[in-house]
Amino acid sequence: MPIYEYQSFKSQNGCNQCLKGFEIFQGIHEDPLSTCPFCGNKIKKVISWCRSAISETPQEQRFVENRVKEYEKAGLWSHAAELADKHSDKTKDKNLQMRALDNYQKAGYNSDSLAKHIK
Ligand SMILES: [Zn+2]
Repeated sequence: MPIYEYQSFKSQNGCNQCLKGFEIFQGIHEDPLSTCPFCGNKIKKVISWCRSAISETPQEQRFVENRVKEYEKAGLWSHAAELADKHSDKTKDKNLQMRALDNYQKAGYNSDSLAKHIK
């Protein structure tokens, strides 16, 4: 499902949503929005892209996060790092990516070899 990002046409006009920009799911055959659905202000399309094919439910995400947390609590840094790494690769979750890095470092990996993880 493509996600479109819209932003207020003029930076001084608009509501909280369109001034800083908002994302909206739209079907491929739907016409692009020209006015803000929140305030009716004129908006322009900023970006459109397809989210990574793998989307996951909040439950799955929570499960992984809890798992990572458990590993961290147990001091299993490399386990936590690998799980967070693999998962953030899949979901493009920046927070998780940083967390993976953090855990890799705690696990004793040196940060040079980790540079490839930062994109
Ligand atoms: Zn608006």
